[in-house]
Amino acid sequence: VVQARGVRRAFGPVTVLDGVDLTIASGEVVALLGGSGSGKSTLLRILAGLDPAATGEFTVPRRHAVVFQEHRLLPWKRVIDNVALGVPGDRSKCTDALAEVGLADRARAWPAEMSGGQAQRVAFARALARDPSVLLLDEPFGALDALTRLRMQQLFGRLRSAHGFAALLVTHDVDEALLLADRALVLADGRIAADLVVPLDHPRAPDDPGFGELRRRL
Ligand code: ATP
Ligand code: MG
Repeated sequence: VVQARGVRRAFGPVTVLDGVDLTIASGEVVALLGGSGSGKSTLLRILAGLDPAATGEFTVPRRHAVVFQEHRLLPWKRVIDNVALGVPGDRSKCTDALAEVGLADRARAWPAEMSGGQAQRVAFARALARDPSVLLLDEPFGALDALTRLRMQQLFGRLRSAHGFAALLVTHDVDEALLLADRALVLADGRIAADLVVPLDHPRAPDDPGFGELRRRL
């Protein structure tokens, strides 16, 4: 559902992306790892259509949705109206999406009344309401405490099973990539430096030697 070839982006004299190729198949969850400043967010913004200055070829379906590390809810709109930003007019989709993230009873609340984890659930509901074929996620669990992060990771797994969307998941967290992704890409020096399949039946223990290669690349 996502295809990119030769994506380049420079900021002044600094080339951040120097010919990135990537493909995401329908229903596939791909983690994007890489050091701080390696260009992960830049690439995600390009794929989301938020960076007109990028060059290269890429196709992303019209039905995509983005979730950032910060919830980016509009503080002057109630929770349900924030969810409705993705699908103006279709209230039932919004109510369903809120129920799916476990917040059916908070529809009339204001963003300021939500905890960080709840607000991030609303951000996922807003994305889901668009019925996306691909989610573009920039460290969506990065600002959450460990327990909330774990619950959100589990929620993500359930939503994925229910909806079958594809996703590009930018993360710093190797364990998260192993837990949630089918494939892990490593961005380094402006290119995809590694493209590793995460085995389906893998025990996913942090010290498992199968992931030594992935860890070595980071
Ligand atoms: P992190 O893991 O810290 O979020 P990242 O991999 O997402 O890092 P980017 O935010 O994509 O990194 O930034 C990549 C490089 O591009 C950095 O050197 C950053 O300073 C630079 N950069 C990003 N956006 C801009 C901008 N609007 N203007 C100038 N430089 C920018
Ligand atoms: Mg970033």
